[in-house]
Amino acid sequence: MAAGNGNLKVIIGARSALFLPFNNLGLIIVDEEHDSSYKQEEGVIYNARDMAVVRAKLHNIPILLCSATPSLETLNNVNIKKYSLFKLQKRYNQMVMPDITVVDMKESGVKKDKYLSEVMLDKITKTLAKKEQALLFVNKRGYASALYCRSCGEKETCPNCSVSLVEHRSKKLLSCHFCGFSKKISNICSTCKEEDTLISMGAGVERIFDEVKEYYPDKRIVILSSDTINSHKKAMEMVKQINNYEYDILIGTQIISKGYNFPLLTFVGIVDADFSYSLDLKSSEKTWQILYQVAGRAGRDKLAGEVMLQSYDVKNALIESLIKKDYDLFIQKENDLRKSLEFPPFGKLIAVIVSSKNQQELEGFCKQLETLQPKGEKFEILGPANAPIFLLRGFFRKRFLIKSSLSVNIQSIARKWLLDLQGVSSIKIQIDVDPISFY
Ligand SMILES: [Zn+2]
Ligand SMILES: [Zn+2]
Repeated sequence: MAAGNGNLKVIIGARSALFLPFNNLGLIIVDEEHDSSYKQEEGVIYNARDMAVVRAKLHNIPILLCSATPSLETLNNVNIKKYSLFKLQKRYNQMVMPDITVVDMKESGVKKDKYLSEVMLDKITKTLAKKEQALLFVNKRGYASALYCRSCGEKETCPNCSVSLVEHRSKKLLSCHFCGFSKKISNICSTCKEEDTLISMGAGVERIFDEVKEYYPDKRIVILSSDTINSHKKAMEMVKQINNYEYDILIGTQIISKGYNFPLLTFVGIVDADFSYSLDLKSSEKTWQILYQVAGRAGRDKLAGEVMLQSYDVKNALIESLIKKDYDLFIQKENDLRKSLEFPPFGKLIAVIVSSKNQQELEGFCKQLETLQPKGEKFEILGPANAPIFLLRGFFRKRFLIKSSLSVNIQSIARKWLLDLQGVSSIKIQIDVDPISFY
């Protein structure tokens, strides 16, 4: 209401704010425009950033897309002169981005079942000796990303989704991070029923906590993840405690990557820089952005900061450009890759995700879809393939991918194809234009 009658001058809102009935809208600002959470993945799939651009066009008003690490598609729009680029020449508070060094884990002599190299431990020790704080970044919540059976080779998986259950040792639970299912940790393999055969795979924050505690038993160590910080109040308390020097070592997930300012924090260690969102078109972009933001936590005040990252693949373009702090170089390489594959923004993609609780019905329906599939020279339809997460929240899922060059009206191809279908009420069809996630 207040938006419509013009009483409010500035409105700060989430994705849905775009649908408010503005009366006299004069400017739209999209902060952190690269963030893929602008894309709503559930229900009606849309990208709020792109909607904002459309809305600005309709009102004929300016729009600012802001970011320290703009997305590849936005930079491409600058290249083709659709957007103009403004660069801020000075950093806030005159801060300098700390130096980043890399540890080649193949030569680090890291101990068996351990994750921290000697050089990194040495840095932590020196930081603590100066009465400063160290932060270790780990991209996984919980203790281990999976429990694997030594006897039958199977993993403990979610009954509703085809993904591994994550071990949360502190809560004594195995949990699914997709549907929220959890069960008590047991020492019996649910596949072969043998006892004491399960081993933890991959390190989450809790496992790194245990390792750090072994090396520094007298130091004050805390875990920062959505399991330990679940409210704004809790976050504020934690920030206060950290700034009061009540902790020496922080072990955190992505939750600490932005917005926080810890004056005593001078060392950031990235435990595993090789992680990526593998089911994602923008996975390298996202990894770069997160690592850069995490690195930026070191030395934000008067003390100089230092960043060290551990990798088994130090020649990787992502790692190389990150050490040089050269985002343009990274984007250039990523651009070349996408261009060679004709992936957006150099081609068009639409994903069609078909799902059902009944696997047989799903197979039958996909057969029908395949027979009706339109044919043409300037586009191709790939699939059906089982989605990487074939079972999700109790639904079986298959994916088709329509891929075309930029000149093709790919949406009308999709529309014609899917309109001809005999509707089946138990089948759900989702159409994702410019898909980002491929799960
Ligand atoms: Zn087993
Ligand atoms: Zn699940």
